Amino acid sequence: MISKSLLPLEAASPAYICPYDQACSYLEAAAKELKLDQGLLEILSHPRKVVTVSIPVKLDNGEVRVLPGHRVQHSDVLGPYKGGIRYHPAVTLREVSALAMLMTWKCALLGIPYGGAKGGVPIDPKRYSVGELERITRRYTSELIKDIGPAIDIPAPDMGTSAREMAWMMDTYSVNVGHAVPGVVTGKPLAIGGSRGREMATGRGVMIIVREALTDRGQSLVGVRVVIQGFGNVGCAAAELLYQAGAKIIAVSTGAGGIFAQNGLDIPALKAYAAENHKSIVGFPGAIAISNADLLTLSCDVLIPAALENQITQENVHQIQAQIVAEAANGPVTLEANQLLEARGVTVLPDILANAGGVVVSYLEWVQGLSYLFWDEERVNREMEHLMVQAYHQVIQQSKTRQVNLRLAAYTLGVGRVAQALTVRGLYP
Ligand code: GLU
Repeated sequence: MISKSLLPLEAASPAYICPYDQACSYLEAAAKELKLDQGLLEILSHPRKVVTVSIPVKLDNGEVRVLPGHRVQHSDVLGPYKGGIRYHPAVTLREVSALAMLMTWKCALLGIPYGGAKGGVPIDPKRYSVGELERITRRYTSELIKDIGPAIDIPAPDMGTSAREMAWMMDTYSVNVGHAVPGVVTGKPLAIGGSRGREMATGRGVMIIVREALTDRGQSLVGVRVVIQGFGNVGCAAAELLYQAGAKIIAVSTGAGGIFAQNGLDIPALKAYAAENHKSIVGFPGAIAISNADLLTLSCDVLIPAALENQITQENVHQIQAQIVAEAANGPVTLEANQLLEARGVTVLPDILANAGGVVVSYLEWVQGLSYLFWDEERVNREMEHLMVQAYHQVIQQSKTRQVNLRLAAYTLGVGRVAQALTVRGLYP
């Protein structure tokens, strides 16, 4: 049994699925398939560095609150640590650690020269003013100043953060070191060295992977019935691009609930509606209200969970009607549910492949910054498409060669590449 002693246990209810244990069980399955050396598995099961800082912040009412801020650096065997910063009430050290490990496999699978990291602060950003969020972000960055940097660890947006937070991070880091360092973060605004296409990148990647999977089934995106859980950065961009490609988006949701329209939603109109109504989609004309739980079990061709972890579990897996499940979120399908879906012939497109578009364009942003040469959006999209399609075909090929499902195929590729790099680098001292 692998020791996870580095990470404190969290309060557990009977239904609690520890995200770190789940990430380790995926790793163990890949290690078994690859017949990986036990010592290598032991190394890869532990994050290299776990940092928790205290973020004292003065709220607008004068009260001082201290928030925990995590940054977990799982592996830098292939290059600098890379991964998003999450602001969400459900953030815990174990969740951040699991997501950091996923980033390692994701970057290795996509063939981009990064290791994996993740950061997070357990807050609901909607409950804080812009000024408070800025003070939280700046103090969090300054507490991590020695742990991040363009050659060390490069944060990016994740759930609850965006280009705005990246600009604050870049500025705080730059002011502290005494000169402008755009490469310390990716997903930043265009005005300070961001990349064209980054905002839509994760959603675009989801669209590309779904399109490839449909092509393999002899289908196209035209007329395909799609359900999307989540209408944040990823869900919204995926909806828009799938809609443009001719798919019928019949339901979408946010944390506050979902909407359903049998004949498909007008996504551009919905986007405009959400922008006018503080990101709420409830009450969109011509659609009927639906709960998040019911949305997942709707009859459709493609289901895209683009919100939180553990949405499709042993509890609801038998009611899932989709033929393809594309994991736009990280870890929305549990290991057991994945196996049950595969047994029924449902294709599950794993997170480290399906949602990799974001980090791929982060990489392209970093490359453009390092070479002081910025590309037009068409080039960014083309380069990203190439890396996504290549990884998709490698996963399909690996799944056929090893006779394993797509998740295990993706993991064996990602884990295998990191293990190989670790082997040739050797263990210091
Ligand atoms: N947060 C995104 C992810 O989970 C993007 C990370 C990045 O761009 O570094 O993949």
